[in-house]
Amino acid sequence: MIIDFHTHVGDHRTPERMDRLPVTWEGLIERLDEEEIDKAVVLPSGVSPESLQAPFLFSPQVDILSQLKAAREYADRVIPFGNLDPRMGCLGNLEPHQVENPPEADFSWILTHFLELGCVGIGEITANIAVDDPRVISLFRQCGEFDLPVLFPCTGPGRGVYGLYDEVGLPRLERLLQALPHTTVIGHAPGFWAEIEGDITPEKKFVYPTGPIRKAGTLSRLLRSYANLYADISANSGFNAISRDKAFATDFLTEFQDKILFGTDVCFGGPDGRMPHLDYLRSLLEEKRIGQRTFAKITGENALKILKLYSPVAKPEEEKP
Ligand SMILES: [Zn+2]
Repeated sequence: MIIDFHTHVGDHRTPERMDRLPVTWEGLIERLDEEEIDKAVVLPSGVSPESLQAPFLFSPQVDILSQLKAAREYADRVIPFGNLDPRMGCLGNLEPHQVENPPEADFSWILTHFLELGCVGIGEITANIAVDDPRVISLFRQCGEFDLPVLFPCTGPGRGVYGLYDEVGLPRLERLLQALPHTTVIGHAPGFWAEIEGDITPEKKFVYPTGPIRKAGTLSRLLRSYANLYADISANSGFNAISRDKAFATDFLTEFQDKILFGTDVCFGGPDGRMPHLDYLRSLLEEKRIGQRTFAKITGENALKILKLYSPVAKPEEEKP
């Protein structure tokens, strides 16, 4: 079974590029059929202001509940995720003794509702705060208690774009992984994938580094050391990381065949919105750079392994006339 672990539905265009097409539910299914992908994890959009582009605000289904309700129509093809922002959970007025050390927000009410709506994971977390912010650790811990894996984009040090931020060497992610051995954490985006190479500069964590990888990076060490860390190869960041140095990529994909998830992060409709990930993995298989088992794990088996709450839904029977 082939699963695209990272997709979105909605209008993610920017005001400067209104010539692109939004992704519709029908368009998503059409793409899955064309690429021979069985199912797609759909990550709801619009939960954190940092990730919002203006056109999205005027598109249908701007709220998560609408997106999840719409997903039900495609239950045989779509694997729904919930989404929230670690900064949610207003505490109201603090008591004097709480000022120094405010209590954690209780997300169980929201997570219970997501479970009732059929969600089997949470993400992607686009708030632009530190990976080891106490609010992130609290949310991720509670997700783990509900058996919900969490997917997040990682960006470069300090505030400024979207996604949780970290410094060179991912020290904050390592603290989070150490604090939460029972939460499945899935990383992606430039700040994560730049770390496929060692000795990088902070600037590289905001861009798409190219060229040969001279030295294995922090990512290899963390994937080896922490059973709860997984890597999503979606978007240009993931694609660049696994295609910039084919020999390194072959070794990397083979060594971490139990930890890597195929995804695309297709954000636009039509042929222009397509991403090259699956064709590339198929070509590596054809060239015998990766084995059939590695291909099967990366493109679907790892996803099914970590989505503990997911049971595939059969295609509804055709209505009889
Ligand atoms: Zn995405």
